[in-house]
Amino acid sequence: MRAAVVHEYKSPIVIEEIPDPVGSDEGVILTVEACGVCRSDWHGWQGEWPGFTASLPHVFGHEFVGTVLEAGKNVQEFRVGDRVIVPFTVGCGKCEYCRRGESNVCENIAMPGFSYDGGFARLTHVPNADLNLVRLPDELAFADAAGMGCRFMTAYHGVTTIGNVRPGDWVSIYGAGGVGLSATQIASSAGANVIIVDITDDKLDLAKRLGAVRTVNSTKDDPVEAIQDITKGGADVSIDALGIAQTVTNSVRSVRRKGSAVQIGMTPEGRNGQVPLTINDVVSNEISYRGSFGMPAVEFPAMLNQVATSKLRPGDLVTKHIGLDGVNQSMNDMTTFNTLGVSIITDYEH
Ligand SMILES: [Zn+2]
Ligand SMILES: [Zn+2]
Repeated sequence: MRAAVVHEYKSPIVIEEIPDPVGSDEGVILTVEACGVCRSDWHGWQGEWPGFTASLPHVFGHEFVGTVLEAGKNVQEFRVGDRVIVPFTVGCGKCEYCRRGESNVCENIAMPGFSYDGGFARLTHVPNADLNLVRLPDELAFADAAGMGCRFMTAYHGVTTIGNVRPGDWVSIYGAGGVGLSATQIASSAGANVIIVDITDDKLDLAKRLGAVRTVNSTKDDPVEAIQDITKGGADVSIDALGIAQTVTNSVRSVRRKGSAVQIGMTPEGRNGQVPLTINDVVSNEISYRGSFGMPAVEFPAMLNQVATSKLRPGDLVTKHIGLDGVNQSMNDMTTFNTLGVSIITDYEH
């Protein structure tokens, strides 16, 4: 099959023929129909997340949808031809977290495109299919749905389950990339007032079209001051969708007393990443600082109900359809932050 293979970190990704994946009794082989190129792929390609990523050579791609090509003999819920989403947080089904529906923090988590080869290839194997696959509503085109495998679902879990965003809340969002833009649409749809912070006016304009009521360009204005001013005391919930030291700190400083700071962006330094926090403010203002990682499969029905009726529109974030050959260009664009919205691989022949 045709695949985009990383042989060396930070070096051009090689488009080549590699052997087809091998199936398993509990798993499926999927024909990948569309796969987003996410900043986490870029971090992996940079070699920044050794704790998360398999050894080289490796096929990245963790934000994909596909059609079941082959189902293992013990798979009950899915058949050949089914259209499915693969949440990138694939649980084992056996640990105490999986047993209570929190498969996104599984003790034995396996992430397609990180722990094993992923969606930058025509075919891929997904283990534990019954637990992890989610059926894709017929109304949804593959290209519009791919984002639900990573960035859109990650934003949904962060805004709803972790952030507990309520109608009328002020929500500040740092970073107008795929997660930040998704969170903008989701929080706005839930009735919140979103203030989004970025350094690029094009991205802020796109965020406005997705529902943000105010934008802050942090190269021109101090974002914490601007948010404190607009909200008269701070956001009810702030989301850091980037993970660099400055946005982590600023996001926490943007929160009002008793508010919540939700951390979605991971630091570039993998498991050893350390970022300074304004601890005395966190303590004396009783601020909740919470991590949010992917989304367990059990939370999909609530999100899909809103997507199937177009209340939520992950397809609105998609700005580019590319071929497998376009992966290098996408990675290079991420290096220079020269991206707008979400790029999706839809053509595996070119
Ligand atoms: Zn991702
Ligand atoms: Zn588990």
